[in-house]
Amino acid sequence: MVWQTIKNIFSRNKLADHMPPVRGKLTAFEPLHKKNWFGVGGPAEVFFEPADSDDLSFFLKRLPDLPITILGAGSNVLIRDGGIPGVTIHLTKNFAPLRVERNLITVGAGIFVSELARVAEKNGLSGFEFLSGIPGSVGGAVRMNAGAYGRSISDCLVSLKIMTPDGLIQTLDTADTRIFDYRFCSLPAAWIVLEAVFKGTPAASSDIAKKMAEYKVQRDKAQPKGVKTAGSFFKNPAGLQVWKLIDAVGMRGARVGGASVSLKHANFLINDKGASAADIEALGNEIARRVLDKTGVRLEWEVKRLGVKQ
Ligand SMILES: Cc1cc2nc3c(=O)[nH]c(=O)nc-3n(C[C@H](O)[C@H](O)[C@H](O)COP(=O)(O)OP(=O)(O)OC[C@H]3O[C@@H](n4cnc5c(N)ncnc54)[C@H](O)[C@@H]3O)c2cc1C
Repeated sequence: MVWQTIKNIFSRNKLADHMPPVRGKLTAFEPLHKKNWFGVGGPAEVFFEPADSDDLSFFLKRLPDLPITILGAGSNVLIRDGGIPGVTIHLTKNFAPLRVERNLITVGAGIFVSELARVAEKNGLSGFEFLSGIPGSVGGAVRMNAGAYGRSISDCLVSLKIMTPDGLIQTLDTADTRIFDYRFCSLPAAWIVLEAVFKGTPAASSDIAKKMAEYKVQRDKAQPKGVKTAGSFFKNPAGLQVWKLIDAVGMRGARVGGASVSLKHANFLINDKGASAADIEALGNEIARRVLDKTGVRLEWEVKRLGVKQ
């Protein structure tokens, strides 16, 4: 198994001998259960938080041939119990600053989208209100093309600065409509989003704040609060609402081990009794199986599974 092979190559003590000397945080066997919303999963074999894009480029250019995984705020991932082999890269909010110039906002990938929405409000720029209740980072939100209330992050995106796995930077004009679709981004999985430029529409800050408050009321009404979850678990199939399909097959409230389907929102799986990642994955698989059997609809996972089983 890949994980075992890599474990033999990198032990805690030898890690420094095999990894490029960097300025950021570099650790071995970093626990990840505190770095994702479900609160589950094994460790990252190698965990790297680069100091800045030069540090990341230096690291990637000298990295031995190892799998690379990118982790944002961990709000849309299911990290498996066997952990993540290879290198897990995490961009913190200190990675790149946030700048506003006229109606353009440039944001580092590690900054939360709720912070982007707040800054836009302060600067009288509308179009970001829907992001205020989404608990992800800019990098993760771009990768997921996160959205709510009829808008997606790609709607206000102008360009992206990305780094390829060989440590080179590219700037992409995101006007090409083939890049994004509903909760989908066609960029290669190993490309790291470093920075994004967004365009807002001038508006009164008070109107923006009002809209954000309305969205909060709607969210509080529809979604469970203070639970370990990754938000919507499956994508809505075209023209359908997945929570209705889950209800139709009687899975609201269903349980596998420590994981259950939220009683408040049937497309939210929650870790309410010390679940393992395997419990959550088994519950997701059971929902998908029943929905396919009874309705003929094949559900697509929105949550990204990372790492290996135990
Ligand atoms: C309570 C709750 C409510 C939610 N509500 C919504 C909602 O209304 N709408 C919605 O769309 N989503 C929602 N989500 C899901 C989630 O918040 C979004 O998908 C979010 O944008 C994910 O960002 P993240 O930083 O947490 O990414 P992660 O979960 O860490 O990662 C998600 C994916 O992005 C990749 N990734 C992360 N950072 C980068 C980067 N810098 N470069 C390249 N790839 C990267 C990861 O490899 C992974 O494949 C909700 C989640 C929760 C827990």
